[in-house]
Amino acid sequence: MSLRIAIVGGGIGGLSAALAMMKHGLDVHVYEAAPKFGEVGAGIQISPNASRLLHKLGLKDAMDTWGVRPVAVHQRRWDDGRTLQRAPLGPDVEAAFGAPYYHFHRGDLAALLAGAMPPERTHAGHKLAGLEDRGERVIARFENGAAVEADVVVGADGIHSRTREILFGPDKPRFTGCVAWRGLVPADRIADLGIEAASHLWMGPGGHCVHYWVSAKRLMNVVCIVEHGDWTRESWTDKGIVDHVLRRYDNWHPTVRSLIRGFPETFVWALFDRAPLASWTQGRVTLLGDACHPMLPMAAQGAAQAIEDGAALASLFAKMRDDVPAALARYEAVRKPRATRLQELSALNRRRFHMPDGQEQHERDSLMVSSGDRSFAALKWLYDHDASIAI
Ligand SMILES: Cc1cc2nc3c(=O)[nH]c(=O)nc-3n(C[C@H](O)[C@H](O)[C@H](O)COP(=O)(O)OP(=O)(O)OC[C@H]3O[C@@H](n4cnc5c(N)ncnc54)[C@H](O)[C@@H]3O)c2cc1C
Repeated sequence: MSLRIAIVGGGIGGLSAALAMMKHGLDVHVYEAAPKFGEVGAGIQISPNASRLLHKLGLKDAMDTWGVRPVAVHQRRWDDGRTLQRAPLGPDVEAAFGAPYYHFHRGDLAALLAGAMPPERTHAGHKLAGLEDRGERVIARFENGAAVEADVVVGADGIHSRTREILFGPDKPRFTGCVAWRGLVPADRIADLGIEAASHLWMGPGGHCVHYWVSAKRLMNVVCIVEHGDWTRESWTDKGIVDHVLRRYDNWHPTVRSLIRGFPETFVWALFDRAPLASWTQGRVTLLGDACHPMLPMAAQGAAQAIEDGAALASLFAKMRDDVPAALARYEAVRKPRATRLQELSALNRRRFHMPDGQEQHERDSLMVSSGDRSFAALKWLYDHDASIAI
């Protein structure tokens, strides 16, 4: 009999894990708390280490339709716009690593993942309430009264994971001191700026701004992150005030200020940190993505790592379906060091991106101009990795 897997959470991590498991003929179902599958209005960058895995799931055509392929990463100073680093993406990154770099609207990516799932295997309106360990099986109970039995439960329920809480108790998030605003600017509002399809990043004292085209270049996704903000709610759906963002970006380059002025609306949230978990697994229940290794967004790798987790789990279940505990132990052994490295890199980037004016910032700038950190040799460990094989 095929291994029965219940995935809790139908975000990017849960859905891509389910597709990878189905490809191996596993009996997988996804249970999502929200009344329908979808994502908030924001952008997401999908690097070759993740796009390679999604292509293997047969999603290339849909990804090419909805994704924007940026030509470069362009990193600049906040005030005069001087280039600190410009590194190729586009065909060059694809030739180097065998898979493209994409920018997506999260809703588009979620829709193409959910659309690839057989509807009878996705269950919206199922919010996990409790789990019962029955030795060789687990019972998952949902707030709507439903209960399902599975051989393995995978908690892909994000940063506020209920699965993690059931396994390891309530977590203690730490406010990082960073506050983020996001906005989606319609292309016609910023046509005069002539912004190329690249991954743009502006670094300033105590803050940075990232922006890129999404939804077939109809919208510009903009994220502004600053230190010492006073907002402390960790939610993607709290509305902010555009004037507050403009005030924080006073004196920044006119392009950055024009983008912020173009926000039809903005959402604000605080960035929290969590100490690494000692373990991701208990019995036949494990975790994936933000549920076990949330990271600051400064390396644009949180979703990519969730996609990698799912690919690794699927390959391990297929290979070791008669020994679930061994498969889960191997999953954690293979995935944890890499996810931890990216958590650390994200925290390091926060410091690099937000350096105050002064000597250290000058040294950063000189180093970025002379050598940078985005040569293909430097990125090989990250972009060349195939998590479905490296098990
Ligand atoms: C500003 C910002 C920019 C980012 N940019 C990038 C980027 O460019 N590239 C990148 O790779 N990553 C990026 N990330 C990180 C990325 O968004 C996350 O790492 C990724 O979304 C995690 O996916 P996930 O599936 O683990 O969790 P989530 O996307 O949070 O999905 C969890 C799902 O579980 C559901 N759920 C929650 N509780 C329950 C429950 N009790 N029962 C059932 N279902 C439940 C939720 O409704 C949700 O659908 C960024 C993050 C931020 C904050």
